Amino acid sequence: MRPPQEIETGEIIGGFAHNQVLALADKVVEAVKSGAIKRFVVMAGCDGRFKDRTYFTEVAQQLPKDTVIMTAGCAKYRYNKLDLGDIGGIPRVLDAGQCNDSYSLAVIALKLKDVFGVDDINELPISFDIAWYEQKAVAVLLALLSLGVKGIRLGPTLPAFLSPTVIDVLVKNFDIKPVGDVAEDVNAIMQGK
Ligand code: SF4
Repeated sequence: MRPPQEIETGEIIGGFAHNQVLALADKVVEAVKSGAIKRFVVMAGCDGRFKDRTYFTEVAQQLPKDTVIMTAGCAKYRYNKLDLGDIGGIPRVLDAGQCNDSYSLAVIALKLKDVFGVDDINELPISFDIAWYEQKAVAVLLALLSLGVKGIRLGPTLPAFLSPTVIDVLVKNFDIKPVGDVAEDVNAIMQGK
């Protein structure tokens, strides 16, 4: 076979696993306390090539400029080439790495819980808008549920094995919801819903 041809050029900043983000913890906390950062939105998970998955591109574009997206896994490819800028030097897309680095996002959330002195992870200014595509995301989702995270949005498609009974349990106990209209979801995220 012929060698692969370069089809695009540019730079993407990555490497924001938990050690790096926590090294910036003072800066991040200060930005939250000053109001420079209003909300973190975790948009991690799996990606597929279908056009309906542009939901995450559109959310990234429509989120206010005082939000920071935390990501890991293939979902980031939907928006990591957008020039979303930074907040006082903190990139608006903090990319922890590949899907296994979702662990880092959980560590960061738990550390922020300590730093802000809250008992419940759901009191943090963090929303979860998770991209679902294939089975590894089950493990990530179960990890989030075991940490007590509620109100997770999941989409743009839902797992085929979600029977009505399982959905009922997830909705009742964890307030899981499917992603919806981009503008409405962004609005709800900014209100912590
Ligand atoms: S499990 Fe596969 S599709 Fe999902 S984030 Fe990891 S590499 Fe991407």
